[in-house]
Amino acid sequence: MFSKHDYWSLLCRGRKKKIVTLIIILIVLLNAFFYVSMELFNTINGKVHKQQWYNRLHFDENSYVDKSGMRVIVGHYIGGNTGGNLSDDVVNSNNYSPVPGAGEGGRPVQLSQRELIRARELYALHSYNILVSDKIAINRSLPDMRSESCKNVQYDSENLPTASVIIVFHNEAWSTLMRTVMSTLLRSPEPLLREVILVDDASERRYLGKELDDAVAKLDKVRILRSSNRTGLVGARLMGARTAIGDVLVFLDAHCEVTPGWLEPLLDRAGSDDVFICPHIDLLSEDTLAYTKSIDAHWGAFSWRLHFRWLMPSEEVLLMKSKDPSKPYPTPAMAGGLFAVRKSLFWRLGGYDEGMLIWGAENLELSWRAWQCGARVEITSCSRVGHIFRRHSPYKYPGGVSKVLNSNLARAATVWMDEWAEFFFKFNPAVAAIKDQQTVADRVEIRKNLNCKSFKWYLENVWPQHFFPTEDRWFGRIRSDRGGCIAVAFGTPGVGGPADGVHCASDLDLERLVVYTPQGQIMADEGLCLEQGNGRAVWKGCSDNKKQIWLQKGPRLRTTSGLCLTLVGVDINKKSGIDDPLTAKRCRDNDSGQIWHFERVPWR
Ligand code: UDP
Ligand code: MN
Repeated sequence: MFSKHDYWSLLCRGRKKKIVTLIIILIVLLNAFFYVSMELFNTINGKVHKQQWYNRLHFDENSYVDKSGMRVIVGHYIGGNTGGNLSDDVVNSNNYSPVPGAGEGGRPVQLSQRELIRARELYALHSYNILVSDKIAINRSLPDMRSESCKNVQYDSENLPTASVIIVFHNEAWSTLMRTVMSTLLRSPEPLLREVILVDDASERRYLGKELDDAVAKLDKVRILRSSNRTGLVGARLMGARTAIGDVLVFLDAHCEVTPGWLEPLLDRAGSDDVFICPHIDLLSEDTLAYTKSIDAHWGAFSWRLHFRWLMPSEEVLLMKSKDPSKPYPTPAMAGGLFAVRKSLFWRLGGYDEGMLIWGAENLELSWRAWQCGARVEITSCSRVGHIFRRHSPYKYPGGVSKVLNSNLARAATVWMDEWAEFFFKFNPAVAAIKDQQTVADRVEIRKNLNCKSFKWYLENVWPQHFFPTEDRWFGRIRSDRGGCIAVAFGTPGVGGPADGVHCASDLDLERLVVYTPQGQIMADEGLCLEQGNGRAVWKGCSDNKKQIWLQKGPRLRTTSGLCLTLVGVDINKKSGIDDPLTAKRCRDNDSGQIWHFERVPWR
């Protein structure tokens, strides 16, 4: 018999000792391999799973839910579908015929197989399900969507300013438009609602003519203005605003439904005369018209190409919201369609830029103007309004979608963005090409007269978490000695995910250039930062996480714990590091995957 000690000493003698050590090393290695494989599997599987999940959402296919759970909506349309080969009669008739109970309480409406086929044929008319809309009563009920803390807020209703609700539309469906109007009439306290102004932006549909006039004639407080030429949402809203008699202008899109208690928080805040206040925008499904809550903590901002984005608010705002969810919170930008502002402030700050046609960029222009010229833009979670987000713009853009969007963007950038306008134009040559055709002298004059602050001030004070290049942030390509650069792999913009070496960008290839901050963050467009994950580096929403810090030490990039950013050579025969994983590893003298060349690209 062996005692424990004898047993061990027998095993650990001579050659056997070596074998045991080897086996132990093998087991450790196998474990490590298993762990890394699991990590990889989770990352890949997580990505696939996420795609499946967000594909089920009825949003633009370019929209997605990022790692932090934030829905990011692509703010630019592909647009311009007019309904194909539908007959004139179909396009121009109103088929509203409510089915008792359908959609009540904000519930979804399901169609039969046969109806689904028809709904699909008609989809291009409005980019939402018109059959469903026509089945839901224009005065359907909706639940109270407010949080408890919002329900507890007492407003001094006697002293709140009054509202002019302005709803502009172009070729909207009759039932959807009327539901917007009816929900406003039904859920706004009588003394606070001065009027509802409908502005028809030269719609061509027959049912929006006399039929709408007749319906509106039966409603107190509602009137219609008609624009003889198609001006776009800015022109139409200005037309409404000019005739408004209420104290506060409240703008709504023509496919919204407001919920109980929506108006008071807007009027309460707009009364202070220095703020553009937005409701919390919930989701009306474009397919079933179900009313669903949207993610609670979000604010509006924009990408390098000035596409509107919903992003996670700053830590400060999250903290403030957790302390008092009923308190309005600041946002760098508004989505555009839904907001309230005291009439006097709206005009004092220059209304809207009338040079902006049809759709687009007016929300950014207004947000920058507000902040830079001494006002604020805020969101109140206590005012809940549902809006149908559409995948495509259903109407025509005279002159072409890109021409319209680019002109509007050029105007906004030229007037408000200073050095960052140069950045925007440099990397968007199509916009730069038409910028000089814009006359913006009167808008520049407004900026001067109001003594407005710089875009630098805006970025530093309103959106310090921004991911744009600045004077003290380095901008360009970070190239590995092995070939390949640090950038978000093509095809997954904004989504985040595992980080690989990618083909190095040309000087104008914005999607693959990065910002390197003095704090050591490597930032890409859409607010993604390179982060050391478990096993390998990943692109993740920028945050204060220490794992996003890469300190430059000579040609190396070191984590706070002293590891080196490495482009791992998986295949020793492969020369370039493209598609090879990035990770933090022990620093070594002769690992070319740890040597980085900083190639600066002028950003303006
Ligand atoms: N609109 C308009 N004229 C136009 C384009 C849009 O009156 O040339 C209206 C449209 O009917 C809607 C509002 O402006 O009520 C905002 O447009 P849309 O809903 O298409 O924008 P989104 O909400 O998708 O950003
Ligand atoms: Mn809309």
